[in-house]
Amino acid sequence: MSHVFPRHTRATLPRAVAGDGCHLIDSDGKRYFDGSCGAAVSCLGHSDAGVRDAVKTQIDQLAFAHTGFFTSDPAEELADMLSARAPQGLNRVYFVSGGSEAVEAALKLARQYYVEKGEPDRRHIITRRQSYHGNTLGALAAGGNEWRRAPFAPLLIDTHLVSPCYDYRDRAAGESPEEYGARLAAELDARIEMLGPQNVMCFIAETVGGATAGALTPPPGYFRRVREVCDRHGVLLILDEVMCGMGRTGSLFACEQEGISPDIVTIAKGLGAGYQPIGAMMCQDRIYDAIRDGSGFFQHGHTYLGHATAAAAGVAVLKAFDDRDLIANVRDKGAKLRAALDAEFGQHPHVGDIRGRGLFLGVEFVADRATKAPFDASRSVAGQLKAAAMAEGLICYPMSGTIDGRQGDHVLLAPPFIMEDAHVDEIVTKLSRAVKTVIG
Ligand code: PMP
Repeated sequence: MSHVFPRHTRATLPRAVAGDGCHLIDSDGKRYFDGSCGAAVSCLGHSDAGVRDAVKTQIDQLAFAHTGFFTSDPAEELADMLSARAPQGLNRVYFVSGGSEAVEAALKLARQYYVEKGEPDRRHIITRRQSYHGNTLGALAAGGNEWRRAPFAPLLIDTHLVSPCYDYRDRAAGESPEEYGARLAAELDARIEMLGPQNVMCFIAETVGGATAGALTPPPGYFRRVREVCDRHGVLLILDEVMCGMGRTGSLFACEQEGISPDIVTIAKGLGAGYQPIGAMMCQDRIYDAIRDGSGFFQHGHTYLGHATAAAAGVAVLKAFDDRDLIANVRDKGAKLRAALDAEFGQHPHVGDIRGRGLFLGVEFVADRATKAPFDASRSVAGQLKAAAMAEGLICYPMSGTIDGRQGDHVLLAPPFIMEDAHVDEIVTKLSRAVKTVIG
């Protein structure tokens, strides 16, 4: 009997024993192409010698020193590298161990900022339906995924929901993408007015939506308008790039492509590339300065903040991006994978939408392409696709079931940045076989 408490308590999972580039190998020797990097994590694949050596060297020298007493070379170097590469003003970096922790830190920083500024009424969090910001109670509250929230609802702080960016389902007939984006930004504006701007703390959003409905891209101009709305009302804009950041969409920060800089950004996953657990919350100088010049103490913290070995992995990951021009490869292979998906599934009667950016691509499956009617949730189409893809030797990230009253089956593809042209065909061929097995 296994004593591990697995996510799916009734499933028997294969045992991963080795990694080889873009592939994982199980205890039977079967190879799987990691088409989703787990959940958009392993961007350098599974056997990167540079990160491995950096981690070993760091452990030999200094594994960990508590940030209550010390800073460390790798944490300083990684913070320098991130702030040098980040959108304007995001110069302060707070290192944590993962995405949910980064979101918790962002929410608490936003709150403390307003307390220190003498605006303690600012407490409301506005978020979007069908969003995901993590599974700890604060981050879960800040997300708009009803299924994940439901059992814990009595434990969650109140948040206020506005519409997600979901072009395929929500853009009205005859409405241009720009008009759709303007409508969504106006909805946020109205919600802030309704709550009273002096009571609103932040708006939190994934720059490109990930774990709930698969690579939902914002309409053109949406985030520029959102930035204006937040500025006008003094509301902090928190962008959650835990999944879509760190090069995944073709720029180090996804918001670079939106032409805006948030007040706070969260990153994780690709930052440690799976070699170490690390995330970060980055904020604008003025937020940091308010706390430095106020109480002088951010009332937060975890034991593993700024973990030296995790930071050393992060430094090695960013160096790999630079030295091997990997984000350019994300753009190149992303365009090729998108074209191959369009060619294979563009006319498929059960594929409603193919979307995304860079190597962050979503496919939405429907029962009826003309009406966009989803499959019955009881069929668990995405779950079946995951299993069928694994049987073919492909990992893809499934999302299925009822999402905020709307059913949907989606598959997220987020392969490693080191993938080669030949892998495009491997992904699409295996996915296509899985689709044939499950829905024809
Ligand atoms: N935010 C987003 C956008 C995510 O996709 C995730 C994880 N899927 C999280 C936060 C939570 O990150 P973690 O699982 O590392 O706590």
